[in-house]
Amino acid sequence: MAAKSVTRLLGGLVVAASLGSASLSQSIASRILVKNVAIVGGGASGAHAALRLKEDYGKSIVVIEAADHLGGHVSSYHDPTTGRDFDYGLNSFNDYGPARDIFTRLSVSVTPAAHGDLASKSVDFASGQLVNHTGPAIPDMFAALGKMYGIVKQYESLMIPSYAQFPAPSAIPADLLLSFGEFVIKYSLQAAVPQIFAITGNGLGDLLATPTLYVLQAFGPATLESFLGIAGAPFVPSSGRNAEVYEAIATRLGSNVLYSSKVVQSLRTGFGVVLWVQGGDGKYTLVLADQLVMAIEPTPENIEPFNPTASEKAVFDKFAYSTVYAGIVSHPSLPTNASLVNTVPAAAPSNYLALPKPNFTVAFTPIDPAAGLWSVGVVGNEALTSDAAKALVTSNINAMVASGVLPGVSGAKVTFKAWAVHGAMHARVSAAELKADFIRKQVALQGKTSTWWTGAAWSSTATSILWAYNDLLLPKIVAASPA
Ligand SMILES: Cc1cc2nc3c(=O)[nH]c(=O)nc-3n(C[C@H](O)[C@H](O)[C@H](O)COP(=O)(O)OP(=O)(O)OC[C@H]3O[C@@H](n4cnc5c(N)ncnc54)[C@H](O)[C@@H]3O)c2cc1C
Repeated sequence: MAAKSVTRLLGGLVVAASLGSASLSQSIASRILVKNVAIVGGGASGAHAALRLKEDYGKSIVVIEAADHLGGHVSSYHDPTTGRDFDYGLNSFNDYGPARDIFTRLSVSVTPAAHGDLASKSVDFASGQLVNHTGPAIPDMFAALGKMYGIVKQYESLMIPSYAQFPAPSAIPADLLLSFGEFVIKYSLQAAVPQIFAITGNGLGDLLATPTLYVLQAFGPATLESFLGIAGAPFVPSSGRNAEVYEAIATRLGSNVLYSSKVVQSLRTGFGVVLWVQGGDGKYTLVLADQLVMAIEPTPENIEPFNPTASEKAVFDKFAYSTVYAGIVSHPSLPTNASLVNTVPAAAPSNYLALPKPNFTVAFTPIDPAAGLWSVGVVGNEALTSDAAKALVTSNINAMVASGVLPGVSGAKVTFKAWAVHGAMHARVSAAELKADFIRKQVALQGKTSTWWTGAAWSSTATSILWAYNDLLLPKIVAASPA
């Protein structure tokens, strides 16, 4: 950070304090860090941005991460009985853009992700009753996915990896503004829907009501290419532990990460930012940086300590989110040889447009039934709390036992072996907002008050695409920094 910027920022600090916009003073900080770039959030986007800014652009950086590790939605469970490790959050990495190079650079060897070809039972989790539902034949599913790819590939450059080319409202392709249900009916893509819902579409909550633009962010051309064999297969670290890639980044970043830390107050200006960061020990660090990279979901709660500007609020207040939880559970009634898939009664016998609506448990999948371990995911609206999500899981199992679909075991309770709060995901707005030029207003926030935005709300939900998005964003951040 240039000395001139530090002086101006410290001047700004005094002014802010005297105007009452900063209630914590510099004197309560136990240390002051002066950096080129401060990065808030060390998940998929923040960890990658930090690595590249530090190593490829020679910038001094600090990452402020709320958790005690990097990696965001990567959730790992170590079974103390068997010694085995399981990933129950992020599943695999798309072979897209720079992803393989990042693993090579970090010396993390990779292997194709395993395909689960387990039998499944369709059950209405609310009533506990079996649903006589048959999914599409595999050739029909592939034909529908192939047809969808042929339609959506033309839109890819508008949204992936970045919205930089997104057009003015009059030129937005009509398909992107249709609800996904309308889009599916328009092109007779029904046979693609169960697969899209099972892989990433469930995270959107009400998949068919979501504007097609946002469905393509979660399951777009890149995902279709890997399904259709046009791109390489998704991969995982050969160790089987997705966390390995973020552990390798953590090693490279060293003491430049403030773990268990959050920004509690800030001052953002056109010539740098001041962040008051509170660590898990309660102590404050004052961070002065030329540029700020926000790599967290821009929820009202997350951005409140950053005093959002009127333009930022006008954009971020419009976002709606899903709330996502994932866990590993144990219960003696769960089947060892099949996964249980939540299926609404209206899906019988083969209505692929009848899907669960939030709040719902997605499925119970045996991951090590001999050790009594099943993975489970829950998707809800913004108000769904962690306790309510766990209660839903328990009530679903109880309903299946009460209906006789699962065998009853006297006194059995659900044990939550692991539980991850993935929180707000899949930021999206209505088609009406998209028509009101939302995306270009969002993009226009980049670089204002020395603040840059990355992460799923700005690109795709796939990690590999987010890394490609960073590759476009980082040169702009560097160009904006004083030499
Ligand atoms: C169950 C599940 C399975 C998934 N499977 C896949 C998959 O197989 N492949 C794939 O590519 N993607 C997958 N995803 C999606 C992918 O993980 C996300 O889209 C991606 O992680 C988003 O990256 P991000 O950088 O925007 O946010 P995140 O990775 O969520 O990172 C945000 C980081 O910021 C931290 N943080 C949050 N608030 C604050 C704060 N106020 N201050 C400081 N730090 C904060 C968080 O702890 C986190 O580390 C999955 C997601 C879930 C939930």
